[in-house]
Amino acid sequence: MTFELKPLPYASNALEPVISKETIEYHHDKHLATYVSNLNKLIVGTKFENSDLETIIKESDGGIFNNAAQVWNHNFYFDTFLPGGSNTPQGKLAEAINTTFGSFDNFKKEFNEASTTLFGSGWAWLVKDNEGKLSIVKESNAGNPLTKGYTPIFTFDVWEHAYYIDYRNRRADHVAEVWKLINWDVAGERY
Ligand code: MN
Repeated sequence: MTFELKPLPYASNALEPVISKETIEYHHDKHLATYVSNLNKLIVGTKFENSDLETIIKESDGGIFNNAAQVWNHNFYFDTFLPGGSNTPQGKLAEAINTTFGSFDNFKKEFNEASTTLFGSGWAWLVKDNEGKLSIVKESNAGNPLTKGYTPIFTFDVWEHAYYIDYRNRRADHVAEVWKLINWDVAGERY
């Protein structure tokens, strides 16, 4: 299977001022495109040549895993945003967040904490387990919670390439702003 760069569901400047057009052009058009291209090269002649992305993530390691997971993670990440955002969780996801974390504000606090304390490059995830219980998971590098049997609800990319052009070293400032972009309808459908 040849993987292709998934187009963004919005214009490259649509997430401004939270995420600039320049960041999106590097992040999607260069970083993500490179993971797609690397993955296509690496799977040639392996047992993953005809596998879908989730199978590769669950069964591979090393360079194939890193590039496959980065493709999945970024597609999922970019799909979670809506220009202008949609404010707050709704319905069952909102109830589950309140039950698990006490309130939406406390959930945000804990998620921000996970995002800012993750050492080095990686991803902070809201996930659910098989019983629908929510938790916050930190993954280094390309880590993806599918490998642990979780269902991802949304994620913050805390690799420096996600924020350095706009926020330099101020990861916490970036993370605090990204909430403004989340499409809670998409997150709710994943829950
Ligand atoms: Mn990234």
